[in-house]
Amino acid sequence: MNAYDLSLEELSEHLATWGEPPFRARQVFDGLWRRAATYEELTDLPRALRERLAEELPTRLEVITERDADGGATRKGLLRLGDGHVVEAVLMAYPHRMTVCVSSQTGCAMGCGFCATGQMGLLNNLTGGEIASQVVWAHRAARVARPEAEKPLTNVVFMGMGEPLANYRHTRDAVGRLLDPAGLDLAARHVTVSTVGVVPGIRRLAEDHPQVGLAVSLHAADDDLRSELVPVNRLWPLDELEQAVADWRGLTHRRPSIEWTMIDGLNDDARQARLLAPLARRMHAHVNLIPMNPTPHFGYGPSPPERLRRFADIVRGGGVPVTVRDTRGREIDAACGQLHWDAAATAPSEHPVGDRELPAREDLEAATR
Ligand code: SAH
Ligand code: SF4
Repeated sequence: MNAYDLSLEELSEHLATWGEPPFRARQVFDGLWRRAATYEELTDLPRALRERLAEELPTRLEVITERDADGGATRKGLLRLGDGHVVEAVLMAYPHRMTVCVSSQTGCAMGCGFCATGQMGLLNNLTGGEIASQVVWAHRAARVARPEAEKPLTNVVFMGMGEPLANYRHTRDAVGRLLDPAGLDLAARHVTVSTVGVVPGIRRLAEDHPQVGLAVSLHAADDDLRSELVPVNRLWPLDELEQAVADWRGLTHRRPSIEWTMIDGLNDDARQARLLAPLARRMHAHVNLIPMNPTPHFGYGPSPPERLRRFADIVRGGGVPVTVRDTRGREIDAACGQLHWDAAATAPSEHPVGDRELPAREDLEAATR
C-alpha cells in the first residue's frame, strides 16, 4: 500500500486500527502533502510511529536523476514511484506561476507516431497516488527554487507520459488528491487534463471534476489526416469528439484548449488552418501551436517559423485566439512528447510504430466506468 493513495479519511481509518488518536492522521497527511516531507523528516511524530508508517504504509517517491535546462527554469525528474514504476515529470518556472507536467502512465498505448512516449508502447497504468506524488516532488523542488513564495507550485498539467483518460479512475483520484483542502489544496482551475480524444473519459471528467481544465490534442482537422496522425481518431472521429467537447462545455462552462503539434509538411498547410478555424470557434477553444519536438523514431521535423506564422495568422483571422508555445526543456528531452526514458538507446526495430494495435473502444469505455 502507498500512503499517497489514501485520502485523509482513509488514512484516519487506517491509523485508528493501530490505536492512534485522530489528530495523528491529520498530522501525517499534512506532513506528506503540505510539507512534502518523508516520514523520517516528521520528527514531531513518535519514532515508533514513524518506523511503523515506513514499514506498513510506505511513500515511495525516489528521485533517480534530475536535470535542469533553460537556465534553471526547467527541471526534469526521473522518478521511481509507489509500486516501482518509473516516469518523468517536468517542473517549469514562469514569472507568475510554476507548472508541473505529470505522467499518468508509463508509456502510452495510443500510438501517435510523432510522440516518444507513444513509440515505447504502454507498460503500466499509474495509481492516483503515483500520479499525485509527482506533484509532491515538484512542490519540494518549487519551494527550493522560490523559498519566499507561500505556495510556489501553482499549476498542474497532465501532459507528461501517457493518456490520462485511458487511465481514467486513477486520473480522477489523482485530481481529487491535488485539490484536497487538507493537502496540497490546488485550485481546480489551475489543473488541466490533456487528452488525445478518449470521448467517454471527457464526459466523465466533466461530471467528476467540473472545474478542471481540458486540453484536446487535435493535430488535424479532417478525419483522414487525423486518423493517420492520431490513431484513436478511428475509434472516436472528429464529430464525436466535437460533441463530447460541447457536452463538456455545457457542464463546466469553461473554454477548452486545442493542442496542435506543428509537423513540417504534414499538418501545417493553409488547408488545415482553414479547417481548424471554424472547428475551434465552434468548440470555443483557444489554440496552442507546439512546434514539433524531435523524437527518435519519427521521420519529420518541426514546421519552419514562416509556415508556423502563416498557419497561426489564418487561424487567428478566423477569430480564434492562438498562442505559439515555447519549446521548454527541449535540450534535455523534457519538452512535450519527448518523455521516454533512454529513448536514444532503444533501437527503432523495437518500436514498430504504426502497426501496434490500439486498445478496443469497449475496453477504453470500461476503463471510465
Ligand atoms: N496523452 C495526452 C497527454 C500527454 S501528451 C495527449 O496526447 O494529449 C502532451 C502533449 O504533447 C499533447 O498535446 C501531444 O500531442 C504533444 N506532443 C506529443 N509528441 C509531441 C512532439 N514530438 N512534439 C510536440 N508535442 C508533442
Ligand atoms: Fe499517448 Fe499523448 Fe503521446 Fe499520443 S501524444 S502517444 S496520446 S502520450
